[in-house]
Amino acid sequence: HERTLILVKPDGVARGLTGEIIKRFEHRGYKPVAIKLLLPTKALLEQHYEEHKGKKFYDALVAFSESGPVVAMVWEGFGVIANARKMLGATDPAKAEPGTIRGDHAIATGRNVVHGSDSEKAAKREIDLWFRPEEVT
Ligand code: ATP
Repeated sequence: HERTLILVKPDGVARGLTGEIIKRFEHRGYKPVAIKLLLPTKALLEQHYEEHKGKKFYDALVAFSESGPVVAMVWEGFGVIANARKMLGATDPAKAEPGTIRGDHAIATGRNVVHGSDSEKAAKREIDLWFRPEEVT
């Protein structure tokens, strides 16, 4: 069963978009296998974003990501990794198509509301990072 990690980032939680995002995945037909709200530690975020370490936006990205609670979720279903990325829309919300989460709800890359794993390898790594095995059904 294919699974992916979806995060509602601090801006998404603060703006009350969690329900909207869950609704889209439910209505698409995907199955939630883990959901929790947490204030992520800096250590967790540094691991999550390790591929961006050294980039210009890295410090701001980690600082913003630890600025408030996030909702971490694992969704399961056929093609969920690639389809979730399509549902999220382009990383830069200014380029995201209307109808996508970012295209409907965001305007700036640094406040783009959601994260989704970008490959099978990333999904496995990120699910293991955000959830203990007993938290995933
Ligand atoms: P995510 O991993 O959050 O789903 P993504 O895979 O679409 O996003 P990445 O290129 O992996 O995009 O960047 C990770 C995150 O870093 C982006 O979602 C965004 O929040 C932030 N980011 C990326 N590029 C920039 C930038 N140029 N300026 C500010 N923030 C950026």
